Amino acid sequence: MKYRSTAGKSPEVTLEEAVVKGLAPDRGLYMPERINPMPDDFFRRLPSLSLPEMAAEVAQSLFGEDVDSDKLKALTEDAMNFPIPLVKVRDNVYSLELFHGPTLAFKDVGARFMARLLGYFNRDNKERMVNVLVATSGDTGSAVANGFLGVEGVRVFVLYPKDKVSKIQECQFTTLGQNIEAIEIDGTFDDCQALVKQAFLDEELNREMMLTSANSINVARFLPQMFYYFYAVGQLMAAGVDTENIVVCVPSGNFGNITAGLIAKRMGLPIKRFIAANNANDIFFEYLETGEYRPRPSVQTIANAMDVGDPSNFARVLDLYGHNHDAIVSEIGGATYTDKEIAQTMKGTLETEGYQLDPHGAVAFRALDEQLLDEETGIFLETAHPAKFKETVEGITGSTVEIPERLVAFMKGKKKSVEMAPNFTEFKAFLLSRK
Ligand SMILES: *Cc1c(COP(=O)(O)O)cnc(C)c1O
Repeated sequence: MKYRSTAGKSPEVTLEEAVVKGLAPDRGLYMPERINPMPDDFFRRLPSLSLPEMAAEVAQSLFGEDVDSDKLKALTEDAMNFPIPLVKVRDNVYSLELFHGPTLAFKDVGARFMARLLGYFNRDNKERMVNVLVATSGDTGSAVANGFLGVEGVRVFVLYPKDKVSKIQECQFTTLGQNIEAIEIDGTFDDCQALVKQAFLDEELNREMMLTSANSINVARFLPQMFYYFYAVGQLMAAGVDTENIVVCVPSGNFGNITAGLIAKRMGLPIKRFIAANNANDIFFEYLETGEYRPRPSVQTIANAMDVGDPSNFARVLDLYGHNHDAIVSEIGGATYTDKEIAQTMKGTLETEGYQLDPHGAVAFRALDEQLLDEETGIFLETAHPAKFKETVEGITGSTVEIPERLVAFMKGKKKSVEMAPNFTEFKAFLLSRK
């Protein structure tokens, strides 16, 4: 399978090139040249497939032409080695708990898969050093750093906005050492993302070093996220739910997660419509309402992993729907909530349903609560464990959030990071010094 750029001005590439490059040279994002529907037989078996079995079949359909079949199966199953339960929160509303992986956020899925795929591509190339640059508003950094920790031939640079990620998030990528380096930028997430994007387009840097991205612009991170959409719908099928009326609500920031779901729908997965739930960074919501896309600097919220002012995967959404606003609105709805509304939802849902949402999941739950029709069944993606935002969650609900054991382990490590201004010349010099 070839990958083409959404900007349409650079040549098609192989999967390996798309993964190693990250961003296309014309600044577009790579998309699979075609989206093959999964066979009917797969959907008949779906309710009885385990998560790793199901993921292996979807991976085969996506990457089977490019990766040796046994290797692909093994790496997919190894990446998907934690449960993703679908938990009923109230009648007709289910939480897809994506936080049972090593860093307690959904990004573990894509990051673990990508690390293993890159390791596979590096197998015959022992001399090659791939430098992964990743900008993070919190969860990407930890998932990527942990997914790639100790992978041979790969070095990871995590850029994060100083004082704008939670302590728990920060220690998950600043305490690892080995092939992981943390860079603390005196600015916003958008500044971090801009530095990374500029690095990919800098000719001299790219001549001197092999650079790639592990943000959701990378196809190896973005596409595997579709596994759990299949799995969630399979669970509902197994429970006998009417598959004509499934609505999926995704708390969205850079829109990689929801775009993977949109592609799963193209592959035949019965999802009637999606809701992209935003915090106060409502650029996409505004686009749905007005047809105009006006990126602007992000504002800080309590759902900080969604504080994005110019969602990078918007280009993929446009591409999937041929830049047709009506087509987009017919399949994707929106919502936007203030911090106060997010807090009310977290507190209210704990009191009435006994379910502890994290701030991101709360945005999505609220959108379903307001927009789900009687005959519909809603799934929202619970993208992080509430303990990742312990102080915020406890401050709002007044009840204690237990920290899972694997999170406690990170907090014992010693922080190590390099501080830097949001200045490309400085960043470039730093990278070259690590050559
Ligand atoms: C990254 C993240 C999001 C946003 O996902 P996108 O794919 O960027 O839209 C939502 N919630 C949490 C907890 C995250 O870490």
